[in-house]
Amino acid sequence: MGKVEWDIVVPIKLPISLKNVEPGKLHPSLLRKIPQGGQLHYLAADAWNAMVDAAKADGIELKPTSAGDTYRSYDSQKAGFLSRYQLEPIANQSTKTFEGKTWYLKKGMAMMATPGKSNHNLGIAVDIHSAGENKRLKWLIANVRKFGWSWEVVPSEPWHIRYTEGDQIPQAVKDWLVLNPKPASMFGTPAEQKAAAEAKAAAENVSADANQSKEDPSSLPVISNPNKGKVVKKLQSLLTQKGFPAGADGDFGPKTEAMVKKFQKSKSLPETGEVDKATWAALLS
Ligand SMILES: [Zn+2]
Repeated sequence: MGKVEWDIVVPIKLPISLKNVEPGKLHPSLLRKIPQGGQLHYLAADAWNAMVDAAKADGIELKPTSAGDTYRSYDSQKAGFLSRYQLEPIANQSTKTFEGKTWYLKKGMAMMATPGKSNHNLGIAVDIHSAGENKRLKWLIANVRKFGWSWEVVPSEPWHIRYTEGDQIPQAVKDWLVLNPKPASMFGTPAEQKAAAEAKAAAENVSADANQSKEDPSSLPVISNPNKGKVVKKLQSLLTQKGFPAGADGDFGPKTEAMVKKFQKSKSLPETGEVDKATWAALLS
């Protein structure tokens, strides 16, 4: 099979918390629910959630093909395997060895790893819904590495990606965590939770400092999409501090406008997307 554009197959660095665990039998404290259904190892969950949000900002929806295509327990992997493979030989069908026996892939079924052998059993693999769809695949090709993911089998399994970066959290995921710190009740290593809490406190300090100078909203110009420059940077910084991540590129485009509208909605202001005096006042309060 020749190289394809998305032949991005990176070896997995296993998180320390996954060394010496039995695949498919992870302790619940290692797993985190993801919003679209299903569970992942907590490091993979952060990387997944960060990537889903980035895709959403670009108008691409990422979700698993089903909740069962995230973490799979040993028993669910075994049930899936037994539904697709049989002991009675079938000519020219691919085979797998499981429990010392040769199993034959049933006709028309997609291959499946033997129980305990899949990265789904470690909570670091996701099968993406409609991954081969042109726009979605293009986005994935351009972005998966940033968030620590890569494919395992190309090109026959465009949907199956794995989190490869172990405990070395990619920068894009760290950036996302600063804006989305884990509540203390969520799972994660103590060091991660501490770092997230500190980052949140630092963001709140910046906000408190900004408040102390009590800027007069009427001294700021009314701005809207399109616009560029220092005032836009200030707007983006205030939006981000208020929990509406708007970047920091100083470019008032559709993304910043969308965040302005969300912010306005949260303050029961008219959702115009235009930063008028009332919006500035709410941002500075
Ligand atoms: Zn898969």
